[in-house]
Amino acid sequence: MKYSIFSLARQALNYHKDWEKAWRSPDPKPEYDAIVIGAGGHGLATAYYMAKEHGMTNIAVIEKGWLGGGNTGRNTTIIRSNYLQDASIAIYDLAHKLYADLSQEFNYNIMFSPRGLLMLCQTQHELRGFQRTAHANRIAGLECEMIDRARVKQLVPIINDSDSARFPILGAYYQASGGTARHDGVAWGYARGADQMGVDIIQNCEVTDILRDGDQVVGVETSKGTIKSKKVAVVTAGHTSTIMEMAGLRMPIESVCLQAMVSEPIKPIINVVVMANTVHGYMSQSDKGELVIGGGADPYNNYAQRGSFSALEHTATALVETFPIISRLKMMRQWGGIVDMTGDRSPIISLTDVKGLYVNAGWGTGGFKSIPGSGFVFADTVANDRPHPIAQPFGLDRFSRGEFIDESVASGVAH
Ligand SMILES: Cc1cc2nc3c(=O)[nH]c(=O)nc-3n(C[C@H](O)[C@H](O)[C@H](O)COP(=O)(O)OP(=O)(O)OC[C@H]3O[C@@H](n4cnc5c(N)ncnc54)[C@H](O)[C@@H]3O)c2cc1C
Repeated sequence: MKYSIFSLARQALNYHKDWEKAWRSPDPKPEYDAIVIGAGGHGLATAYYMAKEHGMTNIAVIEKGWLGGGNTGRNTTIIRSNYLQDASIAIYDLAHKLYADLSQEFNYNIMFSPRGLLMLCQTQHELRGFQRTAHANRIAGLECEMIDRARVKQLVPIINDSDSARFPILGAYYQASGGTARHDGVAWGYARGADQMGVDIIQNCEVTDILRDGDQVVGVETSKGTIKSKKVAVVTAGHTSTIMEMAGLRMPIESVCLQAMVSEPIKPIINVVVMANTVHGYMSQSDKGELVIGGGADPYNNYAQRGSFSALEHTATALVETFPIISRLKMMRQWGGIVDMTGDRSPIISLTDVKGLYVNAGWGTGGFKSIPGSGFVFADTVANDRPHPIAQPFGLDRFSRGEFIDESVASGVAH
């Protein structure tokens, strides 16, 4: 629906009572052609592209909480494509390109902001590592450059460029097209689009079991009853291991809590994203003026979406050293999300040994940036019951073949 200034004013005075809902709240049907478990960005994008690209509209997305309430609504929104391995570059670059046009495609502003992204080099080892990444990225056709300390200071005037810093800045890897987008806007855009094509998004509905008939998946048990389907796609990030266990499958995933925080809003002080891997922290400024700050994950497995004080303290210390100007800022909010870590720090986009059961997980601390690309190739994989060529290297079988896609360095300070 299009709103004129008068209808907007009328809605405001009316306390938005007649505001059109962005998506429906349907009851589940007894059976669907496909079920996607998890209404995070990846699950919603999967449903959206299954409907849009493959004409599959008799689909349900089942979400135990509210859509976008998992990691998709908890992340720090960094978007970049500068991974090391060819397989990774292919999927992150696809996502990056799709992001650029998503607002137009949705007719809904996801606030994509390619404002530039710097990964600081604060040791000789890091400098060499990023030089290698930059070479690999350029060979793969990505735009990027290595910049020196003076250029870093020019791009980020508030940075501590002192020689006497504990880890002085030696330079940086710079991806000018890297940036951010509004995280819940991405989830809402995909949800709206999928809903308009007929996809049922069923919130407050927990999947409690995956039903099999021998080697074939036949549906799911949920808090709203049994729902049948011969295709079930699991897209549940940090809860993937527990859900796949319901189907009798063990996943090579560990779940840890990653946390972030935002400061009180202030005037613009930084207009790029800066990641400092050596001291372990990163920062950007939101459109509201809050500094969005993140760091590492808790060093032990858990499912508590809270995080620990020690990780926060470590991140704050790292950032104050890098940007001394922020030392007196008040932090307004802190939160955590359960991320799904694989051994090679690369995702799993895969068919499984159970026919009709598919899994998309393992995006760990860095899967916001990949949502459009991941949804696109996973939708194709589920619709056609074979891996999309870009998804093929990310199959579960790589762990038994030992063909890892090692991104432990490119995932850097995690994102
Ligand atoms: C603090 C933090 C900072 C991050 N920063 C970045 C960043 O800057 N850039 C970046 O690229 N990535 C970042 N990430 C990672 C990124 O957020 C995730 O990789 C991505 O959001 C995963 O999306 P998803 O759709 O797979 O998972 P989610 O958004 O977590 O969605 C999974 C959904 O499954 C649902 N679910 C779980 N169990 C069930 C069940 N039994 N039944 C039904 N539904 C269920 C959950 O409720 C959830 O909504 C960050 C993560 C965190 C926590």
